[in-house]
Amino acid sequence: MGYIDAESVRKTVRDLCIQACTVLPDDVLSALRRSRDAEGKSLAGDIMDMLLENAEIAAGEKVPICQDTGLVHVFLDLGRDVTMKGDLFQAVVEGVALGYTEGYLRKSVVDDPLFDRVNTKDNSPPVIHLELVPGSDLTITVMPKGTGSENMSRLAMLTPAAGPEGVKRFVLDTVKNAGANACPPMIVGVGVGGMMDKAAYLAKRALLRRIGERNPDDRVAALEAELLREINELGIGPAGLGGSTTALWVAIETYPTHIGALPVAVNLQCHAARRATAVLRPESVSCEWDLPKRDALNGKGGGKDER
Ligand code: SF4
Repeated sequence: MGYIDAESVRKTVRDLCIQACTVLPDDVLSALRRSRDAEGKSLAGDIMDMLLENAEIAAGEKVPICQDTGLVHVFLDLGRDVTMKGDLFQAVVEGVALGYTEGYLRKSVVDDPLFDRVNTKDNSPPVIHLELVPGSDLTITVMPKGTGSENMSRLAMLTPAAGPEGVKRFVLDTVKNAGANACPPMIVGVGVGGMMDKAAYLAKRALLRRIGERNPDDRVAALEAELLREINELGIGPAGLGGSTTALWVAIETYPTHIGALPVAVNLQCHAARRATAVLRPESVSCEWDLPKRDALNGKGGGKDER
């Protein structure tokens, strides 16, 4: 048994925020390079070159990949055997505030969404998703999400009669409707099932999947491949200026649903597909109380207990 200290969570979240905002994940970079090669000598190819150069400069000079450093989503996969020392959620909130302050990242969060809309000045609070998982690790993934692509995301409560075809049509309509506003080439996260809240969560969670990893269910994987092909046939292209790379990847996550429901959510992710992950392992627990010595328990005595 061991514990994870809130202080290490705070520092890790701080570092992950800075890393995510400045360094694109390797799978995203590889996908951008493959697409650049596929576009060849064309306007689309030139734009892909610019995106890659931008990513290279950001990583090299430790500056943000995009001016919109987003609202941070923090995914916590907490092992059931982990004991937390300190307040986990507070540590995450403080870690985000530290990361955005020390990393000189733009602060984009307002406190009250309806009326005051006053900037919180440290980009906190993040949106936190906690899942309990088997094991004794804490996996933390930070995903800063800009609004260009987020605002073009959509949710629909379809009826079961719509089936996979209805889901496909809705995803394609969402991408078509987003056009250049979602800063393509994008990654398309799709959540199907549960109720409306679960579908939206699944769509966001789908964006955590590495590019190249298909859903383990063959039928869902086939739908992902079909959608990727058809999205790229839309011709929206990089920056919406035409080309064969509208999406880098499509990831679908599913969950059981009600007999009368078929909720589907589409969460669009722009080419600045930022995420960073760390795994924290427990430190060994040092007991805060004195246990009797084995000899004393056996009655052999260390001289202390002389009853
Ligand atoms: S959608 Fe993405 S690339 Fe476009 S401005 Fe927002 S964060 Fe930047």
